[in-house]
Amino acid sequence: MKRRRFLSAAVKTASAAVCSQTFPPALNSFLLRQGAAPKISPDNSVRPQLALTLDDPTLSLGSVLKWQEANARILKAIAAKDVRAALFVCGMRVDDADGAKLLTAWDQAGHLICNHSYSHKFYGERTSYADFAFDFLKNEKVIAPYHNRIFLFRYPFLKEGDTADKRDRFRALLKERGYRVGHVTIDTSDWYVSQRFVDRLSKQPNAPVAPYRDYLIAHLLDRAAFYRQLALDVLGRDIRHTLLMHFNPLNALVLPEVLSALENAGWQWIDASLAFEDPVFRSQPQIVPAGESLVWALAKETGRFNDRLRYADEDGDYEKPKMDALGL
Ligand SMILES: [Zn+2]
Repeated sequence: MKRRRFLSAAVKTASAAVCSQTFPPALNSFLLRQGAAPKISPDNSVRPQLALTLDDPTLSLGSVLKWQEANARILKAIAAKDVRAALFVCGMRVDDADGAKLLTAWDQAGHLICNHSYSHKFYGERTSYADFAFDFLKNEKVIAPYHNRIFLFRYPFLKEGDTADKRDRFRALLKERGYRVGHVTIDTSDWYVSQRFVDRLSKQPNAPVAPYRDYLIAHLLDRAAFYRQLALDVLGRDIRHTLLMHFNPLNALVLPEVLSALENAGWQWIDASLAFEDPVFRSQPQIVPAGESLVWALAKETGRFNDRLRYADEDGDYEKPKMDALGL
């Protein structure tokens, strides 16, 4: 416990040094509006920081491994980096006694327990504000018992509303309930790579995990570098990043290697609570449809980066041809 506190203080000092090298946000946006900002490239003397955020813990992982084993492996991998992650809980996947055991293990390890709605609805055309709001509130009872429960909400599929009215009404509800958005800054398709791995195992039970692990790591490094550069170009500074990953079979098997690969690429793992303190997480991009990675949305809002933005920002469709070509 003491060691953790010390490390956390050290990280805070280090990140204060990072922040002091940047312009205040207001000045920054002024410079960017004027088109006077110099081209900014990563400051490689300072390690960029990121926190692990993990979505959709579930008791159903198919036949690959049991939830108890997946849970233990994932928690052990994170503990080995001595950081606290943020767990975004979708109630319908863990709403029984076993689900409570799963969540208790995270809570006792000091990770943040956050709201990801009860039923994982896509807040688009076919979901009304009233239904979405009801589903968000319904999830509160699932996460209420935990000590490290925190008022962070992550939109399912990162979809924040298909009209300005729905977007703003839900944002107002979050504010009224004391919530902030648990934004993703580095969006990924880890879920798709895991799904391909599980599909392969169903046809070939002894298929090796290594090629899927390597694909996943290359994908995550690529996406992390992409969103880091985009954040630098949009905001003029390195922000603290939040990496999106999921509670799934592939991650349960290879998370230690994944976490080390990002570290070896120069990233520094930090506590999720520290990452979410970055003022960037208070921004509310005024785009429609609303959502995606926060960095993507801020870039979209400027109208200046459309050549680099695709919609949705991440999707299995982008990975499919590459994985097909590799025979994965
Ligand atoms: Zn989700």
